Amino acid sequence: MKINMAKSSGFCFGVKRAIDIAIKSSSGNKNICMLGDIVHNEFVVNKIKESGIKKICSLKSGKGKSLLIRAHGIPRSLFEKALKAGYRIIDATCPMVKEIHKIAKKMEKSGYRIIVIGDKNHDEVRGIVGQLKKRAIVIDNINKVPLKKIKKACIVVQSTQNLEYVTKIIEKIKPHIQELKFFNTICKPTTIRQEETKKLPLENDVMVIIGSKGSANTKRLYEISKSLNPRSYWVESKNDIKKAWLRNAKSVGVSSGASTPDEITQGVIKFLR
Ligand code: SF4
Repeated sequence: MKINMAKSSGFCFGVKRAIDIAIKSSSGNKNICMLGDIVHNEFVVNKIKESGIKKICSLKSGKGKSLLIRAHGIPRSLFEKALKAGYRIIDATCPMVKEIHKIAKKMEKSGYRIIVIGDKNHDEVRGIVGQLKKRAIVIDNINKVPLKKIKKACIVVQSTQNLEYVTKIIEKIKPHIQELKFFNTICKPTTIRQEETKKLPLENDVMVIIGSKGSANTKRLYEISKSLNPRSYWVESKNDIKKAWLRNAKSVGVSSGASTPDEITQGVIKFLR
């Protein structure tokens, strides 16, 4: 059985950067907390905890403590709350997510209503929405596109969305907006990964997509793969693989999400071999 690995597999730039920042800062400081998960992968989160960084669920007194901001960013109000509580901020927000914040804030200032196409409950989307003064419109489902008239609106996109789906949503919303500006803020690492995932499922009998079930970009890769090859499977590690999936398969394509560590991917490859 041939195993064909996606070239773009492994940590994306933003995740790698966030992990590096976390590990580096923890070496000289044992008083670092992270609010929620730094990236959406259990294995990575545990590794970071092992380096001495504590995971917290809410902001208490931050005197003498540092707060590590996750790769997906946080709302402005949370940032201010942390500073007020006395935390020193270590910001690991991906620069590409920061760019989305910048665009959304600038366009809001210019009088545009901000529309975010992305998963409503995802940290990144909450972070984008939380930069704004007025309530943004969040669309995560083509069947739930608001159809009320808007004079001026600006669309930004969660960095890990699928452009084809986003385009369909925009087509649906377009007739209702007099002046529409669109910024394709899907990041380059996501685009490259998705492009590759559009080829591999057609060239292989079976597809295995590796990543945490909480990872938005892995979900997207799986959806793309499944739409092209019904024998596509989403696993968190080698333990999820069922041998029956591989029956009569001559080739298996393997791809992984942006926050999937190499160790996990290598474990899958070894198992498949
Ligand atoms: S997926 Fe893109 S935006 Fe998100 S952390 Fe990675 S590089 Fe940054």
